[in-house]
Amino acid sequence: MRATRFFISTLKEAPADAEIVSHKLMMRAGMIKRLGSGIYNYMPMGLRIIRKVENIVREEMNRAGAIEMLMPVVQPAELWQETGRWDKMGPELMRVKDRHGRDYIIQPTSEEAITDVIRTEIRSYRQLPVNFYHIQTKFRDERRPRFGLMRGREFTMKDAYSFDRNVEGMQKSYEVMYDAYTRIFQRFGLEFRAVAADNGAIGGSGSHEFHVIADTGEDALVYCPTSDYAANMEAAEALPTQTSRPAAATALTKTATPGKAKCEDVAQLLNIPLETTVKSIVLAVDAEKDSGKAAQIWLLLLRGDHELNEVKAGKIAGMANYRFATEAEIVEHFGTKPGYLGPIGTQKPVNIVADRTVANMADFVCGANEADFHFTGANWGRDLPEPAVADLRNVVAGDPSPDGKGILAIQRGIEVGHVFQLGTRYSDDMKATFLDENGKPQLLQMGCYGIGVTRILGAAIEQNFDDKGIIWPTSIAPFEVVICPMGMDRSEAVKTEAESLYQALIAAGIDVILDDRGERPGAMFADWELIGVPHRIVIGDRGLKEGKLEYLGRRDTEASNVPVAEMLAFIQ
Ligand code: ATP
Ligand code: MG
Ligand code: MG
Ligand code: MG
Repeated sequence: MRATRFFISTLKEAPADAEIVSHKLMMRAGMIKRLGSGIYNYMPMGLRIIRKVENIVREEMNRAGAIEMLMPVVQPAELWQETGRWDKMGPELMRVKDRHGRDYIIQPTSEEAITDVIRTEIRSYRQLPVNFYHIQTKFRDERRPRFGLMRGREFTMKDAYSFDRNVEGMQKSYEVMYDAYTRIFQRFGLEFRAVAADNGAIGGSGSHEFHVIADTGEDALVYCPTSDYAANMEAAEALPTQTSRPAAATALTKTATPGKAKCEDVAQLLNIPLETTVKSIVLAVDAEKDSGKAAQIWLLLLRGDHELNEVKAGKIAGMANYRFATEAEIVEHFGTKPGYLGPIGTQKPVNIVADRTVANMADFVCGANEADFHFTGANWGRDLPEPAVADLRNVVAGDPSPDGKGILAIQRGIEVGHVFQLGTRYSDDMKATFLDENGKPQLLQMGCYGIGVTRILGAAIEQNFDDKGIIWPTSIAPFEVVICPMGMDRSEAVKTEAESLYQALIAAGIDVILDDRGERPGAMFADWELIGVPHRIVIGDRGLKEGKLEYLGRRDTEASNVPVAEMLAFIQ
């Protein structure tokens, strides 16, 4: 590729709405361009990366025996009514009507569509196992789209679906996918970890998430450095308590003492006396209805009229366990800074209770501003029974590992893949059966496997950047090598060498871009450092006189001089 034939558009400053580094850098590097909330144009530079990610995914899925197809983005509501997800999925499911008033959805995932294909195409056990996948646009009307491609509303996912004749078969298909995912993330060149995830009703070890490790990740991962134990926080918390940590002291690590009435814990954590009169208490529930995850309840304590001069927010599982949040977390969650009272988008907190003392905080009804989605009897009364230890599980670093092989550590991750044993969850509702050896119909055993293709870009950057810009692993870089000629228009020698090296690299199958824009060196280098191309070759008259080119790896601090004749071998 020649830069003059391509589209390069870089920015000095990131737009104000870009909060995290990957979003900022992708915007500045001209990889994406916002069209609407959570909806982005994939610009030429960004699309090259997406295609590379897709190709790796495709190669490994094919290698693992999955078969590529393509299911529609727009799907009839009837299918989703069959499985009950039309009702269960809530507002995250994008619904549209056609001109006849018929209901459709824009697919957030494709279990229904594939099961519909399979229930008519698969008749006999002889056709099993089978695994179909597609790489397709998804739409999820996320409550808070943010962070660019990390949590978009429209995004690209690879989703695969396996069908087997029995549970053992399903588990085998699952293992094959697990291994394929491991290869995929290895090929991306990213540091990642597979963790056990809670898969609710189905139970067992039937679900794993693949996380790219990054401090900015939304998820907490619990792992044991001296064994294989690794789980996401929800799954780790769902295990029987392994520790002798006193009850209540788990979440309330700093100040709480077991056995104390909870309102006192609240007062203690807020660092205010029990007698403090608070103007209002705002409780807001933020629960993921469809995921069945534990609700999070955020407590905001307000003093004063319309101003929060004292704000704390906490995550309270089952009202028994809370952790106080930082201001940044409140902002992230509610989209507004504390210190502001009033409607906050659609997540308006409810249940404002005026003029009570902390000690009187009892019998709340609290919840989101959504019908049938309230907690009742939320209580910070004084004479509450000590909550069961089971309600207070909150795994912290230093806890013993459940496998008894060491102590636990916690790190943050970005969920980029998810594999799931579904069993007959969908085949049951949709009557997807096959005939076994005895001619008897049996329900198909299903698995599903997702990779967030576009999220990978954000995750890769969160893990690999410096103050100059992005540092792509070579396998998914928009270009592997950039040639930067100094004064190409003035120097015939530079021009000739640039052309010949460019052709040689192409011939060697290297994805190279020749920067023939005639930019000043400073601007040229800054662009490619921002864009994150892993290898840079500078061609200048001075070096050429000595028969040398200058090479700089994106992570290198000093350039090295490489003889012209050796450059190709050096790069390969
Ligand atoms: P999250 O917990 O981040 O909301 P999820 O568990 O809802 O993700 P899955 O249903 O498991 O997502 O979908 C499979 C993959 O699709 C995820 O592992 C993630 O990589 C990707 N993905 C999910 N939601 C989004 C989104 N809004 N934007 C980009 N990628 C997404
Ligand atoms: Mg989600
Ligand atoms: Mg998730
Ligand atoms: Mg998931």
